[in-house]
Amino acid sequence: MTADVLIVGAGPAGIGMAATLNRIGVRATILERHGIGASFRRWPEGMRLITPSFTANQFGLPDLNAVTPETSPALSLQDEHPTGEAYASYLHMIVELEGLDVRTGVEVTDVAPHDGGGLEVRTTDDGHWRSTFVVWAAGELQYPRTGGFPGAERCVPTVEVRRWDAHPGGDVVVVGGFESGIDAAVSLVARGRRVTVLDREDPWGVVDADPSLTLSPYTQRRLREAQATGALQLVGGVEVEAVTFAEHGATVHAADGRSWHAGGPPLLATGFDGSLELVADRFKRDERSRVVVTEEADESTVLPGLFLAGPAVTHRGAIFCFVYKFRQRFGVVAREIGRRLDVDTEPLEELRAHRFLLDDLSCCELECTC
Ligand SMILES: Cc1cc2nc3c(=O)[nH]c(=O)nc-3n(C[C@H](O)[C@H](O)[C@H](O)COP(=O)(O)OP(=O)(O)OC[C@H]3O[C@@H](n4cnc5c(N)ncnc54)[C@H](O)[C@@H]3O)c2cc1C
Repeated sequence: MTADVLIVGAGPAGIGMAATLNRIGVRATILERHGIGASFRRWPEGMRLITPSFTANQFGLPDLNAVTPETSPALSLQDEHPTGEAYASYLHMIVELEGLDVRTGVEVTDVAPHDGGGLEVRTTDDGHWRSTFVVWAAGELQYPRTGGFPGAERCVPTVEVRRWDAHPGGDVVVVGGFESGIDAAVSLVARGRRVTVLDREDPWGVVDADPSLTLSPYTQRRLREAQATGALQLVGGVEVEAVTFAEHGATVHAADGRSWHAGGPPLLATGFDGSLELVADRFKRDERSRVVVTEEADESTVLPGLFLAGPAVTHRGAIFCFVYKFRQRFGVVAREIGRRLDVDTEPLEELRAHRFLLDDLSCCELECTC
């Protein structure tokens, strides 16, 4: 099967990219291993977007969670912090609105140069696609980091919990105290559990102008409410060394000799390896393990024609990990693909005003003063 543009993943990055390409008449095919918005449908019960939705589009400020400038999850879902399920239905709406070509149940395993030119995309069903361009938009949530210390393999990544009530044991230990860990902790405290959160630093105390480096106001408020109950303990400066299991729960051991008991398997909120591990040798990494893509168009510096969209994009130290950040590169990638396909890319210019075409990266270096 052949295509001009293949996109891997039907999450906000893949769907937003396809909708942007539509603006210049380039019809992409999206290959998706589960279903539209699958990562959001897997979110634990009650988990909501931390970035607020608000319909300010009319005044040139698109809803922070929108993947096209003309739509707003706040308007279609009537919610400021939509659940994962609701956000997935918003993405579904975009697919219908834009008439996007999404092939579900197709899992991509590799992208390689094709002998006859262009790229070859391999899939688990032994399918072979040939394409001039591929946009990798397979996200991170479905690839949680689970290793690191003995016993970690028997712990449970927070993103794999469906219902907090169903997590076994009384007292809970969560390893990792950033957004996912605190979300798990406050959700469990709300259900009457006692929770200890361990982290090698104290991320709950960090104040930074970059929302990727500090807990969101939404999470901070929920954290204060949970702390007021007295059932939540936050412990920083803990390097977890091992977890051992016994008949009645588990013990989490720190490098300095301290330990904590959990009634069930500890929860892990220790980050994500991300889907790029599947195509690790197709992208370069810098000394901090951040993926390297071209500043001009987020293209691999190893495999020309392979582009990146989504939270793994970084430039000049800025992390494009939220929807409102990575969508700013949709126009840039679409413009490059359009130019190479020799189509008129002028219709993309209007995206600049809506911040869906950010090609001046100097703005990423700004810091807020308060
Ligand atoms: C717990 C958590 C909470 C977050 N909350 C927010 C938030 O509130 N606001 C915000 O802006 N951002 C948030 N983020 C950041 C988040 O990563 C992005 O908003 C968003 O999910 C990324 O979109 P995506 O399309 O790149 O990835 P995803 O939404 O994960 O979509 C990737 C798609 O690719 C598919 N896929 C994966 N591998 C393959 C494969 N090999 N072959 C074919 N298909 C594949 C998946 O099934 C999935 O549908 C959160 C992230 C996490 C982990």
